[in-house]
Amino acid sequence: MKIIVIGSGFGGIASAVRLQSCGHEVTLLEKRDKPGGRGYVYEMNGYKFDGGPTVITAPWLFEELFTLSGRDPKDYYRLVPLDPFYRIYFSDKTFFNYNGDKESILNEIRKFEPGDVEGYLKFIDTTEDIFKTGFELIDKPFHKISNMAGILPDLIRLRSYRSVYGYVSKYIRNEKLRQVFSFHPLLIGGNPFQSTNIYTLIHFLEKKWGVWYAIGGTGSIVNALLRLFNELGGEVRLNSEVDEILVENNGRPRVKGVRLRNGDRLEADAVVCNAELATAYKTLIPEMHRKKNTDRKLDSLKYSMSLFVIYFGTNRKYDNIPHHSIILGDRYRGLLEDIFINYRLADDFSLYLHRPTATDPSLAPEGCDSFYVLSPVPHLKAGVEWKTEAPKYRNKIMSFLEKNYLPGLQNHISAEHFIDPVHFRDDLNSHLGSAFSVEPILTQSAYLRPHNKSEDVDNLYFTGAGTHPGAGLPGVVSSAKIVADLIGPAK
Ligand SMILES: Cc1cc2nc3c(=O)[nH]c(=O)nc-3n(C[C@H](O)[C@H](O)[C@H](O)COP(=O)(O)OP(=O)(O)OC[C@H]3O[C@@H](n4cnc5c(N)ncnc54)[C@H](O)[C@@H]3O)c2cc1C
Repeated sequence: MKIIVIGSGFGGIASAVRLQSCGHEVTLLEKRDKPGGRGYVYEMNGYKFDGGPTVITAPWLFEELFTLSGRDPKDYYRLVPLDPFYRIYFSDKTFFNYNGDKESILNEIRKFEPGDVEGYLKFIDTTEDIFKTGFELIDKPFHKISNMAGILPDLIRLRSYRSVYGYVSKYIRNEKLRQVFSFHPLLIGGNPFQSTNIYTLIHFLEKKWGVWYAIGGTGSIVNALLRLFNELGGEVRLNSEVDEILVENNGRPRVKGVRLRNGDRLEADAVVCNAELATAYKTLIPEMHRKKNTDRKLDSLKYSMSLFVIYFGTNRKYDNIPHHSIILGDRYRGLLEDIFINYRLADDFSLYLHRPTATDPSLAPEGCDSFYVLSPVPHLKAGVEWKTEAPKYRNKIMSFLEKNYLPGLQNHISAEHFIDPVHFRDDLNSHLGSAFSVEPILTQSAYLRPHNKSEDVDNLYFTGAGTHPGAGLPGVVSSAKIVADLIGPAK
């Protein structure tokens, strides 16, 4: 079949590789000048910044994309394990070094609350069961109600109606430790107070298989996958924004191709859409072809938070800062409520600080560091005037970092760029400028999440953060497997 994939995020590239590997003729269309989607790489003054994903887990999901066409992934990219996975700082400057070693974790817990050791051990025991059940679902399609019926008993048994924070709190009493073991849903755009406890599986996943870094940055995995796709005979077209998914209707709507912004029309037997799901349905497919995914239905969904991210290079090194730091502010629940529920840009923030040069000096000139700092912020429903707010917000974060973590920072910056929710809306075509699309809550999961196979238009499929299983690299790469399985090999 002739297949068009719209969007070169990880979900799009992984779909393109899988479909090309099993004999289809695939063309990958990307709006921007470089591939990767949220994994776009910014290069400035000799510094390299991964735009988005930095924490690599479940490495076998990437490896499989190479082995299915008989390749050895080692010939394409190299992953190295990280220790610690993260350092989590609290506002009083105490910190928790988080890694996969049980004894080391127990020692860290003892620093804060020796009485919580026993509760933690019980907690990790239960996450194994949650992982085994939850991870099973990650690459299975959920577009039929019968798919859902099969998993309901497990969801009830695992008490998936409880939030991650609520579940962790059952086992752990110390508030700082509760934060350490409940922040994980934020990595995929979920509020720990609202996401189902199934996401505690991330803790088990990291503990058992580690947290990895791709030498050269996450962009090197994007490049590796594109190299593979080219070798398999696939075609990539950058600067090619799709304006419409063309549909013919001989009794039932069915895709027949796409129309590009420049007016070109490309025919296809099937279209795999990796462009963010809500914007794609709303702007690429006329509403007369959408009985199920109406504008009203899409507007009624809850969308995840957005992000403010500053990429910056320093002309000195900050060797005391580890690869991944999470810098928590005084407020945890209150701040998350402001972001996810009140849609209010708060005066305070919690940050994720990325310093890949702690592991890989190749991302900056010699003697220099490459960083990004990320602050979760509400999506555009908050009505923040980012044009005027962004520079102020940037200054607030950089002053905070200078005062508390990176002395002299503002005098040592030699490259800088920032993105805000408007970037997610305008450059990445994401509804409400959400960084992770449809929010991962129980009532928007599995069958209740927008489907990988369109109910409205035949031969139209969705891959990426807004569909099942959801955001994060393991999720979107698994959505590609679902789509490729649904389409099947070339006949
Ligand atoms: C700052 C940040 C940090 C993150 N950190 C991590 C992490 O450490 N680990 C992790 O696992 N996950 C992380 N995530 C989440 C993860 O990056 C995303 O969930 C995932 O990359 C999304 O992939 P996707 O397949 O949905 O495609 P996207 O990355 O959303 O890409 C979609 C692509 O479609 C293109 N497009 C849109 N509309 C059109 C159109 N009409 N025509 C042509 N092209 C179009 C866009 O330009 C874009 O390139 C992070 C996300 C962000 C934003």
